[in-house]
Amino acid sequence: MSTSGCSGGWPRAGCPPTAEVSVKPTAVGLDLAEHGEKTARENIARICAAARDADTTVTLDAEDHSRVEPTLRIVAQLRPEFPDLGCVIQSYLRRSPDDCRALAAEGSRVRLCKGAYNAAADVAFTSRAEVDRCYARCLRALLDGPGYPMIATHDPRLITIGAALAALADRPAAGFEYQMLYGIRPAEQRRLAGTGARMRVYVPYGSDWYGYLVRRLAERPANLAFFLRSLASRG
Ligand code: FAD
Repeated sequence: MSTSGCSGGWPRAGCPPTAEVSVKPTAVGLDLAEHGEKTARENIARICAAARDADTTVTLDAEDHSRVEPTLRIVAQLRPEFPDLGCVIQSYLRRSPDDCRALAAEGSRVRLCKGAYNAAADVAFTSRAEVDRCYARCLRALLDGPGYPMIATHDPRLITIGAALAALADRPAAGFEYQMLYGIRPAEQRRLAGTGARMRVYVPYGSDWYGYLVRRLAERPANLAFFLRSLASRG
């Protein structure tokens, strides 16, 4: 990750950690039939405490739309103790511009992605164009606020829009970051880092990477095309 210039919107003193931890709430108990949310919150608090001791930060991944509300509740409940606990907003959900406006507060860290899940049309946009337009609306809300936006996309149009909105909002390079998945568009990752921007790479870690991949493909078959395109193209 490029860390040129360590001031700006980063919510802690000093530079951002070169690595941070992303956690799926369902991996730490959210789906348990009894006390799932409480169990997940307690486990996430333990992870946040360990991350703080290791001088790094935690972001809670966003899962399918039924988990968004409990995940954001956990973030709100834990942020008084762990102010730099980050969360993820998915632009395929109709609620997301409102969530972005609510989350664009001092010290907040919000990763914006399109979303790797499907949902019915009453809660989600189903066309690519609508998801992209919503992404741009969410970007504007986050970049106009005082928090620390994390722009997670490989989409060249949205990266250009993000850079333009950041410039319009007078954001220093240290006031936001780009994020991409490991192995996808590595040349673009290097290009962005070369401009002085912060560029973070998301890496599934541990021996369960195959299960992670298969789950992502099962949740949304369109992810298969995304995966195959990334194998075919390294640009
Ligand atoms: P897409 O619509 O997949 O791609 C848009 C365009 O990008 C393509 O048309 C093409 O022009 C270009 N492109 C894409 N791939 C390539 C390639 N390999 N080579 C060349 N051009 C390419 N989803 C969640 O639901 N919850 C999460 O918590 C979450 N966390 C994420 C964290 C990170 C760091 C990232 C990067 C993604 C995360 N996602 C998460 C996944 C995300 O929601 C999308 O499913 C995924 O990133 C694909 O969307 P996209 O924005 O890259 O655009």
